[in-house]
Amino acid sequence: MTDVIDGKKVAEEVVATVRQGAAKLIAEVGVTPGIAVVIVGKDPASQVYVNSKSRKAKECGFHSVQHELPAETPEDELLSLIGDLNADPAIHGILVQLPLPKQIDSARVIQAISPDKDVDGFHFVNVGKLGTGEIASAFVPCTPAGSMLLVERVRGRDLSGLNAVVVGRSNIVGKPMANLLLAANCTVTIAHSRTHDLPALCRTADILVAAVGRPEMIRGDWVKPGATVIDVGINRIDAPERGEGKTRLVGDVAFDEAAPLAGAITPVPGGVGPMTIAMLMANTLVAACRTAGVEPPR
Ligand code: NDP
Repeated sequence: MTDVIDGKKVAEEVVATVRQGAAKLIAEVGVTPGIAVVIVGKDPASQVYVNSKSRKAKECGFHSVQHELPAETPEDELLSLIGDLNADPAIHGILVQLPLPKQIDSARVIQAISPDKDVDGFHFVNVGKLGTGEIASAFVPCTPAGSMLLVERVRGRDLSGLNAVVVGRSNIVGKPMANLLLAANCTVTIAHSRTHDLPALCRTADILVAAVGRPEMIRGDWVKPGATVIDVGINRIDAPERGEGKTRLVGDVAFDEAAPLAGAITPVPGGVGPMTIAMLMANTLVAACRTAGVEPPR
């Protein structure tokens, strides 16, 4: 029987642990974890993400502030806000919602966030720590961190000798995911748009991670029998069968074809998606615990 991994349930468990950890930190040390979410402009999708992050932070018992800046905000104004948040002792995690408007250099903004408050894990210091195996003191980007937790639920923490194939080499998903799998002793291959014979490569994978952004690109016969398949992709496609103008979400994996072969597989929606916000909350609690000199809950 294929194990369809319930990301929503695992995410709820993570959030429950974070809520307990936050309550303990407040009660025992008097430190309330604080997160600042910054959005520039009125992109509707970004607005939805930002609101759900702020809502989840409140659910965790965090101090949560949301900064909504107009689309025409100059870069130096945003950098100045980041400077203030870096210096604010009530804020432990800073999240700047991407993408940013054209007049702002995203890379400069990300590098302006204090590495100790970089709960997205995008600052070079945290990228470097992950790349050199200093994971315990790093902030790991939330989507790969959540994906890894799902892998561990299926396979355990030590993945020694397993072949992992990560399709996609972005800085926010593919590369950090590959580093996490490597740190867990997998033999890792990163595939991308120039990879030759991707189906054959995917068929070698005991753990197959799809982070491409192409609806249902990975077909059932690319999946090794018994493999753990983690589908990071979120793609909205037309769904005329649901009525005129209707759409639905699919992953990068053709779920109906892959599920009968896979040992375990994440659905879309309800797999990796819910894990991302949960891991953001976990990273913020870790940031607050580090500031307070307290061991974060695991
Ligand atoms: P990017 O567009 O940054 O990266 C996509 C990667 O896929 C690139 O490395 C690209 O290769 C590779 N690729 C593109 N086409 C092919 C192909 N035909 N064969 C093999 N590789 C290919 O995307 P992200 O990493 O940001 O996101 C990937 C997916 O994950 C998206 O669907 C996104 O919506 C989703 N996502 C989901 C999140 C969640 O919370 N669940 C969070 C973040 C992302 P190359 O480098 O050669 O161009």
